[in-house]
Amino acid sequence: MISLKGLTMKSYDVTEWGKPLQARIRDTPKPIGNEVLLRLTHCGVCHSDVHVRDGYFDMGGGRKLSLAERGLKLPVTLGHEPLGVVVATGESVAGIEIGGTYLVNPWIGCGKCRMCAANNDNLCANMSALGIAAPGGFATHLMVPDPRYLIDAAGLDAARAAPLACSGVTTYCAVKKLQPIDPEEWVAVLGCGGLGLMALAVLRGLGHAKVIACDIDDAKLEVARARGAAQTCNLKTEGVKRLLEISPGGVCGMLDFVGMPQTVALAIPGLRKGGRFVLCGLIGGEANLPLPAFGLREISILGSAVGTTRDIAELVALVRAGKIALPEVDRRPLAAVENVLADLVAGRVTGRVVLEVGEER
Ligand SMILES: [Zn+2]
Ligand SMILES: [Zn+2]
Repeated sequence: MISLKGLTMKSYDVTEWGKPLQARIRDTPKPIGNEVLLRLTHCGVCHSDVHVRDGYFDMGGGRKLSLAERGLKLPVTLGHEPLGVVVATGESVAGIEIGGTYLVNPWIGCGKCRMCAANNDNLCANMSALGIAAPGGFATHLMVPDPRYLIDAAGLDAARAAPLACSGVTTYCAVKKLQPIDPEEWVAVLGCGGLGLMALAVLRGLGHAKVIACDIDDAKLEVARARGAAQTCNLKTEGVKRLLEISPGGVCGMLDFVGMPQTVALAIPGLRKGGRFVLCGLIGGEANLPLPAFGLREISILGSAVGTTRDIAELVALVRAGKIALPEVDRRPLAAVENVLADLVAGRVTGRVVLEVGEER
């Protein structure tokens, strides 16, 4: 173990809701008990980081889910797609290699409830997720409370692998909720940003070729086509009519990585009987849907967010087996994080941005 005495770390924190992140220097914490300290090399940037920085999620009808009211305290370091090298461990930690490279599952529960006992931390009602409620990965160092949240990332392209902890596992678990998928049936991916492109990679990796990439931006649709989408549909200019031309009677599944009234409204006209709509996107708003269609046509809407350490490990195994090709990412320095958030707000990001953590202090 290296000495942490006198070592400082740098992080980019929300100090005031809705305001630019502030750089903060402090002493590097020393791990005790089950804690593991990582020197980060990468951290992906997620659109949720924008919502957390703003301090609320738009619940529609002018209602906001306020993070302050949910008990989140400032300052907090954002970033929930961290990857790094272990530099120190608490005295109770075994089986974790100093110098080893690990992905971190940031979706950490209270550790006391039934969900946490079953390792379903993502379903814990009192989560303390890294990068949201606890210090996250827009930093040089990260403390992980227990090694059971680490996934061995040796040999992976670290920048491409970092997003597996959020966009990767979110899309993987969303796709799992559509399983089993008949290879002859069409699946529509709504929104071809980072999540949509990852979902495309996961579907293709699991052997599903009949994917319709949907977006309102032709440039994003072109990228999706290049990454293996069999068909595309511009939801603005072509609409659901195009979906039904490709898949008469409707698609068997839709994966919504946008999450706004206009995308959810596609569920009824766009799904075949018995179809499933998996809602992951968090843009916000509320939908007005004709209720009899759900019963009469046996349509389901399922929510999905993130996953467990086990899910991330399954995903890593698929990557190692060569089944999932990780999409290229847009690599930028940690210090550029505020510009990256601005680009996300302005819709200027195609795919995923991953911050590279240099030697900054
Ligand atoms: Zn995220
Ligand atoms: Zn819990």
